[in-house]
Amino acid sequence: MTISNISYLRIRPCDSDNEIYLNSRYKEGTSAFTLKNDTKVSFESLLVKGFQTITSDLTIASSAWFITDDVIGTTLTQHSKRLIYRYKGNKENALEIISRHKPGYVLVESVEDIEFFKSINATNQFKISMYANSIDTAEKAIQSGADDLFLRDWSKDQIIELQNQSDNNLYERTILSPLFGINEARDILDKTEFTNFLQTRNVRGYKREISNWYPGSGVPIPKLSHFSSETHSDYKSPRFDQILNNFDKTKKLNEVDLLELFKTSGKHINQIAELANELTRTVHGNKVTFVKNRNINYTNQCYYKCGFCGFSKGPQSLDLKEKPYTLSPNEVLQRTIEAHETGASEVCLQGGIHPSYTGDFYIDLVKKIKNELPEMHIHGFTPLEIWQGASTVNKTVEKYLTELKAAGLGTLPGTAAEILDDRIRKYLCDDKITSSQWGYVMEVAHSIGIKSTATIMFGHIDDLESWVNHFKLIKNIQIKTNGFTEIVPLPFVHMGSPIFLQGKSMPGPTWDEIILMHALARIYFHNVIDNIQASWVKLGHDGAKVLLRSGVNDLGGTLINENISRASGANHGQETTDKEFINLIKDAGKVPYLRNTLYTSFKNLEEISSKNVIKI
Ligand code: SF4
Repeated sequence: MTISNISYLRIRPCDSDNEIYLNSRYKEGTSAFTLKNDTKVSFESLLVKGFQTITSDLTIASSAWFITDDVIGTTLTQHSKRLIYRYKGNKENALEIISRHKPGYVLVESVEDIEFFKSINATNQFKISMYANSIDTAEKAIQSGADDLFLRDWSKDQIIELQNQSDNNLYERTILSPLFGINEARDILDKTEFTNFLQTRNVRGYKREISNWYPGSGVPIPKLSHFSSETHSDYKSPRFDQILNNFDKTKKLNEVDLLELFKTSGKHINQIAELANELTRTVHGNKVTFVKNRNINYTNQCYYKCGFCGFSKGPQSLDLKEKPYTLSPNEVLQRTIEAHETGASEVCLQGGIHPSYTGDFYIDLVKKIKNELPEMHIHGFTPLEIWQGASTVNKTVEKYLTELKAAGLGTLPGTAAEILDDRIRKYLCDDKITSSQWGYVMEVAHSIGIKSTATIMFGHIDDLESWVNHFKLIKNIQIKTNGFTEIVPLPFVHMGSPIFLQGKSMPGPTWDEIILMHALARIYFHNVIDNIQASWVKLGHDGAKVLLRSGVNDLGGTLINENISRASGANHGQETTDKEFINLIKDAGKVPYLRNTLYTSFKNLEEISSKNVIKI
């Protein structure tokens, strides 16, 4: 039997735009309202509260519109995908409407009508929907070939019952999320509608679960049934099992299959996380590593305009942005000495691009630290800083990196990557280096013996294709250079981010997307990049602990004075002490190891005395 993916929409008539009424409908899980023709409710108020609407009145503002046979012969101004054709039994009229008005959905009244729409040879794609008032009707509609269900006033318990009874996968949608990608929606929807669209969906395009957890929130992660939330709707690619079976044989995942696996939701995520965990154990056993380091962000002044960056331009009104500051090279050195005294083996240097900085600043900084502390590993300067540094002193990237290496630079952080897909960068960080420039800096660095990490920031205005493109670019470089030491997924922290505050981004990835990102990084980069790191700064310790069972083997750095995530609103502290890391790792049933930056030296910390300064 073929298992289908059936979407559903939780819908009910709208009685009021009163705040108390809307809040209680939201909590119940309603995402869509039908509006009467003579409605007095404000469409704008519903959008702001996270609802979308359908109406039969083509003259009023709405997310989508019902059309009937009456529209034959008329010209409609609404976007065709936003039309839902209510079929009343006249097949010839239906063919006329399907061919000429090209609605996104057809809403049938009985299961007998489904067969007719399945048989139409239409050039445009549409989905077949039906209202289901009981589990029995829903099952009959699914068995007859419906793609989608309108569930009026269904409680979460009824939906879970349907999920449990059905042999198919049911996943929740909003009215608009499956119809448009983000770039398309940006062009089609007006500002408030676009914000509503972004905030009610997740990256995969399913309805966003209601949750008070988000990256950097500091609240406990959602209640999990294994790796996924108990209430998540389920989706898996029709090729899901075949892809995983093939991986068992080849130990390789191609990009087409990676994209299919990124679409997974609900209980099927468990299978992916388990496979990732198995692979982690074959490579690392029970060993979980971290590095003792200090982050030094020498300035938060920057002339770039990255839309997501709360660090250089977060709102002071939210008390997230520090006042403009610049640390002198002496202050940076002083902080490095302090880090050294606490046993840190690495300083991570990165910051805004201050208008007065040239490439000489970075070289001088490295020399200053190395003169004083030759053994300190300098993990510093994003590919953007390298690009800008080289161009301000009129040197090629290769020449400039060679000088930095000679001065004592150890490795490059893989930041400034954000999402390596220029379709998305255009709206996220248009004036920053492009994907290929980022890749070029990394390739040159690796070619002269400077290794680096690789990051991916996700959950803003990205899509699954951009995740795949990002992974592919990194793998292609790694196959040539073997210069990446680790992959670090960075969930987008939205609260203080300008792009979110302007209503132009999603509020970070959902918890299950975070699991998928780490687990699929482990699977896709198997035998290519061995280390997958979780960012405790954005995920909290409880989040990091779950990820240790789903592909992650490294927790990054202790990061005294982490400023960048905090500036975007993350609530987790500025530092996790080595003792806290040890306890966290042991709690997860793993063995803690301190490592150096390059993963070439390790110290088992299982039995370490808490009185001593821990050093690699
Ligand atoms: S992300 Fe970096 S380059 Fe972009 S605005 Fe912020 S500090 Fe500047």
